[in-house]
Amino acid sequence: MVAPKARKHLSADALFSLVRTGFDNIPDHRSTDAELTLRDALMSAFAMFSLKSPSLLAFDKERAEGNLHTIYGIERVPCDTQMREILDPVVPKALRPVFKSVFTQLQRGKALEAMVFLDGCYLLALDGTEYFSSKTIHCASCLHRVHRNGSITYAHQMLGAAIIHPDVRAVIPLMPEPIGKHDGTDKNDCERNAAKRFVVKLRQDHPHLKFIITEDSLSSNAPHIETLQHYDLHYILGVKEGDHTFLFQQIQVAEQAGRVTHYERHDRTARAIHRFRFVNDVPLNASNVDVRVNFLEYWEIGDTKVQHFSWVTDLRVSTRNVFHLMRGGRARWKIENETFNTLKNQGYNFEHNYGHGEQHLSVVFAMLMMLAFLVDQTQQLCCAVFQAVWAKLGSKRLLWERMRALFYDYALASMRQLFEALLYGFQKSSPRVTLDSS
Ligand SMILES: [Zn+2]
Repeated sequence: MVAPKARKHLSADALFSLVRTGFDNIPDHRSTDAELTLRDALMSAFAMFSLKSPSLLAFDKERAEGNLHTIYGIERVPCDTQMREILDPVVPKALRPVFKSVFTQLQRGKALEAMVFLDGCYLLALDGTEYFSSKTIHCASCLHRVHRNGSITYAHQMLGAAIIHPDVRAVIPLMPEPIGKHDGTDKNDCERNAAKRFVVKLRQDHPHLKFIITEDSLSSNAPHIETLQHYDLHYILGVKEGDHTFLFQQIQVAEQAGRVTHYERHDRTARAIHRFRFVNDVPLNASNVDVRVNFLEYWEIGDTKVQHFSWVTDLRVSTRNVFHLMRGGRARWKIENETFNTLKNQGYNFEHNYGHGEQHLSVVFAMLMMLAFLVDQTQQLCCAVFQAVWAKLGSKRLLWERMRALFYDYALASMRQLFEALLYGFQKSSPRVTLDSS
């Protein structure tokens, strides 16, 4: 049996090496004679998330130093206390170039072509999520929620971002924007501010890429839409009748004036009716009448249930593109389901506290987990061996479990060898896979 061909520069092994080189460029805040390098500490945390090790302690105890050296290129593996101490002062934004270098590799390998949604634009979903909260554990960058009785809940949130496509299961996450306290500020941060910072950095990293931003109805406000327009970003944003009363009144007015287009498509195989109505160029709200949007409403009518959605977009809606735009709007759930829920429930332990630190540790861990997820999603999108192993085992959880078992027990030459061993079994795979006799 011949192993499926892999795109060399997008293989797990090539990307691990790219990530390691990126870590090398992050300035070390400690004295130069430090016993352990910052690169090894960052790479060890990355490896912990890459292997979905349930905790730092388990990682430490079961670690297979040989494979961490061979596969992840770690010279010296720190113990959990050392790792926390070294990573706590690392400023999270230092990790941004590493995300960008993986993204550039995806572009070079033409892997993103499958993700183009409309007229050369990528669909980029943004959404906030909370991954940590505690009444006792906190750090300098925690959000504070003060309750009526004076007690405080500390929390960390992030604005996640991922390139999605309705027909592609994999998502390509970008560097998330942390939502928390920032140096020198007393005020709590919020998702809206994080979104503002995010688009500025998005344009710094990718000045010419074409994006359609998709978000839930909380984002459909005039200041945010003006920000998106300012940065030359298209959008498909959810709207709700309860939150956008003026807009829906305008639609009624347009309906009575006969300016609304109705369109219906019957899908006999799925036994569903897709019903649309849309109108272009309507004001979003009474106080910002110069912010004009195109409105689109959709009902999916099945045998037993009806689903209803509505969006605003800057893309001109027509009977030609309304179905496609609807699919783009509905694909937004992938940031929740294929991104956050995968991180929470598919082995990454997103909400698990790996160690909080006093400065940035909690945020640094969250960013490194997203980076490991980006490398995994690249495999899911591009690596035929990975896809075959996943199909064979049937679940990510089982895949990670088998991956860890091999990693801890056998001396391996590469991640590719590990995936091949999972796919073909030991007897059929190359004889290089031998028991570690040490
Ligand atoms: Zn904190």
